[in-house]
Amino acid sequence: QDVVNKIAAGEIIVAPVHALKELIENAVDAGSTSLEIVVKDGGLKLLQISDNGCGINKDDMSILCERFTTSKLKAFEDLQSIGTYGFRGEALASISHIAHLSITTKTADSSCAWKAHYAAGKLAPAKPGQSADPKACAGRQGTQIQVEDLFYNVPTRRRAFRSASEEYAKIAEQVGKYAVHCQGVAFSCKKHGESGTSIAVPMAAGTKDRIRIVHNSDIANELMEFEVSDKQYGFKTNGFASNANYSGKRTTLLLFINHRSVDSSAIKKAVEQTYSAFLPKGGKPFLYLSLEIEPARVDVNVHPTKREVNFLNEEEIVELICGAIRSKLGKVDT
Ligand code: ADP
Ligand code: MG
Repeated sequence: QDVVNKIAAGEIIVAPVHALKELIENAVDAGSTSLEIVVKDGGLKLLQISDNGCGINKDDMSILCERFTTSKLKAFEDLQSIGTYGFRGEALASISHIAHLSITTKTADSSCAWKAHYAAGKLAPAKPGQSADPKACAGRQGTQIQVEDLFYNVPTRRRAFRSASEEYAKIAEQVGKYAVHCQGVAFSCKKHGESGTSIAVPMAAGTKDRIRIVHNSDIANELMEFEVSDKQYGFKTNGFASNANYSGKRTTLLLFINHRSVDSSAIKKAVEQTYSAFLPKGGKPFLYLSLEIEPARVDVNVHPTKREVNFLNEEEIVELICGAIRSKLGKVDT
């Protein structure tokens, strides 16, 4: 049973950045306006994320890391909506099978914070011989999650990591995407033991300023805002796209579908194609795109490791988005 869970967890979380993405989404879902992330050894030694969200009830702490434990289903219209978010109630469970997980949390109406450790889906003692029950401690409202020694019990996976700085770069890139997308949320991300942050976005920053902070002013100064929607295809989208004055070395695509960061090689290709007529040879665009699609139109079978998402009328929707960018770039293609 445990081996099965461990294997399943290793399929969901292949690299530290995958664990962190889940933790960021949880913190945002909890209504946080501040996320502080600390990373040691590319996330293999420590991933720590502190939020100021709603916190977790002490009574829920014992089941938190059981598979399919989620507080979010009731908020959904129907089970179809699961497709939008990939999977449900598996992130903390998975992490607890392949790392040392501890959670400190306080809700608004609790008089103190509670800290618990988890192993293989269950509460576990901090040290052998101690009680596994959550312990009272001091703390502010919100939740702090610490993931230590990721893949400590999956040596093959652990050996696959060559460089901590490479893993950290992936983490910073993912944090940067959410930092651009999540209006009203402050983000900071740094390496453990370093005083300087690699990302520091204040709560009040607008999208352009977020792009300026996370990326650079060269990009932020050359952005066009656009919006497209279509009832028939059940989507609306808004975003910022670089103009013809900006020409990057590689394409930067910050793509959110229903507020989850996802990849889409189809969209990337189409966007590069669109820009190729406007940029010097080899020049690449920057695009931040937030796409909201009716949940029933998003592929419900999408697997968490397959971070590519499928949705109905993809070709038509992508063409409408590219058409909007094309006309902003100055040439209407009919
Ligand atoms: P899911 O996000 O799909 O519900 P997870 O395993 O990621 O599943 O989290 C399980 C549950 O733990 C969530 O539904 C939520 O109730 C609670 N939770 C996790 N992280 C936080 C957090 N940062 N703040 C408040 N609640 C959290
Ligand atoms: Mg989650």
